[in-house]
Amino acid sequence: MSDVVNADRPAASAPKEEAPVLWLDKVERRYTEAGAPLEILKGVDFAIWPGETVALIAPSGTGKSTLLHVAGLLEAPDAGEVYIAGKATSKLADKDRTRIRRNEIGFVYQFHHLLPEFSALENVVLPQMIRGLSYKEAKARASELLTYLGLGERQTHRPAELSGGEQQRVAIARAVANAPSILLADEPTGNLDPKTADHVFSALGQLVRASRLAAVVATHNMDLAARMDRRVTIRDGLIVEL
Ligand code: ADP
Ligand code: MG
Repeated sequence: MSDVVNADRPAASAPKEEAPVLWLDKVERRYTEAGAPLEILKGVDFAIWPGETVALIAPSGTGKSTLLHVAGLLEAPDAGEVYIAGKATSKLADKDRTRIRRNEIGFVYQFHHLLPEFSALENVVLPQMIRGLSYKEAKARASELLTYLGLGERQTHRPAELSGGEQQRVAIARAVANAPSILLADEPTGNLDPKTADHVFSALGQLVRASRLAAVVATHNMDLAARMDRRVTIRDGLIVEL
């Protein structure tokens, strides 16, 4: 399995003193609402290492999505720096930031955002072809990933023909299709009933452990959070360990 998940990544485990794969250093983010500044992140310091899973548990409106967007290079911080695999990202050209986002980071959202007119398989094939793989290679990997996530019999189905849990598992397969080093999931089981959420979460956990992915998962589900390596919250605009 590790071959499937890791693709072209070296299999050897890295030494303990390795650098964090993601490091937010004194990250600030503010919005302006009705002319007044809204300070969301006030100097966040947060790091995660390969193979680690971190639950981000905080009330709505505290900045979980903001944090994940900044960590995933979708939004730039107003101050501070985001390091991906030890490399500062704030001064990169847009195309380099896009490349890092495409190759190193996988996203899973609360709503699956799968392309409705494409099959499960095609949804997982597409990001790989955008990265430059041939259809044949992309299809082989997509098929293996979907089978690994228990969707071997569902590959030709379109999203509308899948259950909520199945849709989220396809979204997870798509997020890791390019063998990213970081998985950012924003309330990925928020729309699912508890049993389905548990199933999706198990699939995600299995994948993370098999591939040395680093995963940050925003969730309100304490049972699921308890199964992760670490739990953090956002308090007064800072990340605090729970
Ligand atoms: P969470 O994901 O924890 O619910 P968010 O990160 O989505 O929180 O939002 C944090 C706060 O920032 C909220 O008060 C939200 O209204 C505000 N916010 C988020 N995005 C924007 C934006 N683009 N413009 C203005 N305010 C925003
Ligand atoms: Mg949110």
